Amino acid sequence: MRAKATKERTSLPDQEFTALLVVDVQYDFLPGGALGVPDGDQILAPLSRLLSSNVFPLIVATQDWHPPNHVSFASNHRDKQPMDRIMLYGHEQTLWPDHCIQGTHGAKLHPGPDWTKVAAIIRKALDPTTDSYSAIRNNWNPRGVRPPTGLAGYLKNRRIERIFVCGLALDFCVKWTAEDAIDEGFEVTVIWDLCRAIDSSASEYVRHDLAERGVEVVTLADLFEAVK
Ligand SMILES: [Zn+2]
Repeated sequence: MRAKATKERTSLPDQEFTALLVVDVQYDFLPGGALGVPDGDQILAPLSRLLSSNVFPLIVATQDWHPPNHVSFASNHRDKQPMDRIMLYGHEQTLWPDHCIQGTHGAKLHPGPDWTKVAAIIRKALDPTTDSYSAIRNNWNPRGVRPPTGLAGYLKNRRIERIFVCGLALDFCVKWTAEDAIDEGFEVTVIWDLCRAIDSSASEYVRHDLAERGVEVVTLADLFEAVK
């Protein structure tokens, strides 16, 4: 199904209340990185085009930002390998290779896209006990709740009603962010070709799940066409 971005929805003045959220475009999530997303580098050039356009008056980026003793690292669990799954606080948790450790090269935003216009960078998963796929809420903590990152409050304070999401990885941080943003009452659109998945077979179920939750999907071409 071709994604729809109608002229009415994306033209002015709606743009005033619209933000772009760029998820985790960090060295470690790019090919060659500690948790490289296949073909993740292919989003860099089109993302640069989008960031240097004036389509979005507010742009927010996220950074996965773990301490070395983070619970999501397989290396912090006895006899576990990256990609193993465990039950953590009553929910399934994938264990990852060490990645995006605070202050390291791998945690840096890739310098290809021009980040100059980004108003805020939200760092997530700083708590060693709790992962955070979503930019809106952390995964479950030891008390079984998902603490907010504060981003929803920031966006609401900026009177944002609609969010476009793109970045890495589609099947984890982008998907969770989009779904949480829906739960927070935002209209949410994923820019499909500005995302790549860790699991290349994930596209189909992610598209299905997003549609079921009311998340719209567009291409970058749709978006540029709609705001022309
Ligand atoms: Zn992480």
